[in-house]
Amino acid sequence: MAIRKIREIGDPVLEKSCKEVKEVTPRILELINDMFDTLYEANGVGLAAPQVGILKRIVVIDTTGEDPILMINPRILETSGEQTGYEGCLSVPGKTGHVTRPNYVKMLAYDENLEPFEIEGTELLARAMLHELDHLDGHLYVEKVEGSLKDLEDLEDMEDVEE
Ligand code: ZN
Repeated sequence: MAIRKIREIGDPVLEKSCKEVKEVTPRILELINDMFDTLYEANGVGLAAPQVGILKRIVVIDTTGEDPILMINPRILETSGEQTGYEGCLSVPGKTGHVTRPNYVKMLAYDENLEPFEIEGTELLARAMLHELDHLDGHLYVEKVEGSLKDLEDLEDMEDVEE
């Protein structure tokens, strides 16, 4: 088990496009394990490889703490609907902002054996999948925020008025 350092906004590694994974080597398996460890340690919902400084198309997600999802080389097959809600990112600590995304997404991805699978998500899972996919192309959610980026502390003072 190893916790990797999470890169933060302003780090150029977060602005680059990631390369496809063509072979899952022992090093990549180690990276995947470390990404899950790092995600859980940070109490996050999702983490993309560039957030730990590796420019490969690998994403880990767990929206409940009990449903680990690994997506290698994910791509969008279908989206529908719309949701607007607060979003945050482990690479943008202490901040949040309103982002509109599709409410449903279907993606094609590959597992650790590079076997393809389809995965569908709605609401938080769809949001997490799309947010992480953006990381693989060098995009952060702050580019999509409607209105201003807020401090999480201020938001907590407001006691969920937006809900
Ligand atoms: Zn993020």
